[in-house]
Amino acid sequence: MLSLAILRIIPIRLAAAMSYSTGAFSNSQPLNYRGGARVQPIDGNEKEEAREPSTGRVIANFPCSGEKEVDLAIQSAKGAFKIWSQKSGTERGRVLLEAARIIRERLEEIASLETINNGKSIFEARVDVEISWQCLEYYAGLAGAMAGQHVQLPGGSFAYSRREPLGVCVGIGAWNYPFQIACWKSGPALACGNAMVFKPSPFTPLTVLLLAEIFAEAGVPPGLFNVVQGGASTGEFMCKHPDVAKVSFTGSVPTGSKIMALAAEGIKPITLELGGKSPLIIFSDCVMENAVKGAMMANFLTQGEVCCNGTRVFVQKEIVDKFTEEVVKRTKKIKIGDPLLEDTRMGPLINQPHLEKVLGYIKKGKEEGVKVLCGGEPYLPDDPKLKGGYYMTPCVLGNCRDDMTCVKEEIFGPVMSILTFDTEEEAMERANNTIFGLAGGVFTRDIQRAHRVAAGLQVGVCYINNYNTSPVELPFGGYKKSGFGRENGQVAIEYYSQLKTVCVEMGDVESAF
Ligand code: NAD
Repeated sequence: MLSLAILRIIPIRLAAAMSYSTGAFSNSQPLNYRGGARVQPIDGNEKEEAREPSTGRVIANFPCSGEKEVDLAIQSAKGAFKIWSQKSGTERGRVLLEAARIIRERLEEIASLETINNGKSIFEARVDVEISWQCLEYYAGLAGAMAGQHVQLPGGSFAYSRREPLGVCVGIGAWNYPFQIACWKSGPALACGNAMVFKPSPFTPLTVLLLAEIFAEAGVPPGLFNVVQGGASTGEFMCKHPDVAKVSFTGSVPTGSKIMALAAEGIKPITLELGGKSPLIIFSDCVMENAVKGAMMANFLTQGEVCCNGTRVFVQKEIVDKFTEEVVKRTKKIKIGDPLLEDTRMGPLINQPHLEKVLGYIKKGKEEGVKVLCGGEPYLPDDPKLKGGYYMTPCVLGNCRDDMTCVKEEIFGPVMSILTFDTEEEAMERANNTIFGLAGGVFTRDIQRAHRVAAGLQVGVCYINNYNTSPVELPFGGYKKSGFGRENGQVAIEYYSQLKTVCVEMGDVESAF
């Protein structure tokens, strides 16, 4: 959750530059992590490079892990699993608590590196890191509380259930929340007694290595959390591997569908956290100031590269002019630029092809009849060192119709579409008319209507009079093509463990034969 309390004024670019150049992430350092140490992958013909989105400079060159390296990482994780899964939940919780403490202590370093590699503002990166350690702390607490059931049977016999880990789990992440996604997956996985092999997006390979080192320092057995690097083929080797017990994936719908097919071959359980095109419904009786703030939060965090963003903003006709005027006024004021500066609120998009894709949606929208109310142009910051970055001005679109490409498809950029409606029934029908079902929101002062809308939206996460908060205590995940399974909350335990029933006979066997 965003909290102003975490804002700390320090000379961030200097701090980041120091930790970056002296540390850990020069090109000579391997970016794989296996058995408790950085390692060069033993195979892999493809190469990837990661860039700093704010400047366009290459910050890492690395080989993609091939089948043999993926196998080594999984075998190493299997070894660690044998040790870790035998520990009590309380022992595991203690290690996770220590990892959470170290993350808190190294918050500035992690957030700076995240900003360098992802482009999101340092203000937001700090929030992501806060949410990350909170996630580990939360699952540390749950680790010791996991228990089965005891059931009395006739004749003094009884049965009990055991909640057991799955084994080696695979985590595959997207580039928009690299560190946080790794924590959302590894927190519950490790709490349940599993091992994890994680692959970040090749665009953002760096911060997950800090997490691997932090886990090691906190006391996990070597191999319990391994990192492989690469793109689609590395991910496929992971999903297909016979010793992998579960795949947890965050990314796009088309990739999710491929992963589901791969997992189906091995009958592996999966969690899919996929894309969205979420509706935000604003009724005329809302508190206008909050609705405007909510719409801004629903569209412009992390340059709009957020899966649960409320990008289809349905506004009741009576207030649409006032609402639009306010939103446009605030959008124009968003400070774009160097994401490491304290007052920047929007950094660059992840890379040039993605920037072009987002701008392409706006171009197509114009052809289909939208009115660009502000933004939607490439942006060149004054600072010459940023001239190679992938910036654009945040955009608000008016005159939108439900059948337009920019209203139907996930843009994954800072583009808000404003649509108008007359009645609640109409808004609900149009809001649900999508293949996605990740999130949705409603702004109204009518308490019955608020809950009616929340119940009627076909989405996994619903906000009433707010948007885009992510408390770790609450399940997060989608309906429809936005995926299935849940991260966060107590329920995530069920996705990283399995139940065994043990029947105990206290008498003699009654046989039919
Ligand atoms: P992507 O699907 O292109 O890639 C995601 C990850 O999958 C990357 O690590 C990639 O290397 C890997 N991958 C690609 N092809 C693969 C294959 N065939 N087999 C195995 N792994 C493969 O997505 P992206 O562009 O990195 O992320 C953006 C998407 O992620 C958006 O659609 C966004 O909505 C979604 N997302 C969803 C959530 C959520 O929680 N629901 C959170 C963040 C992002």
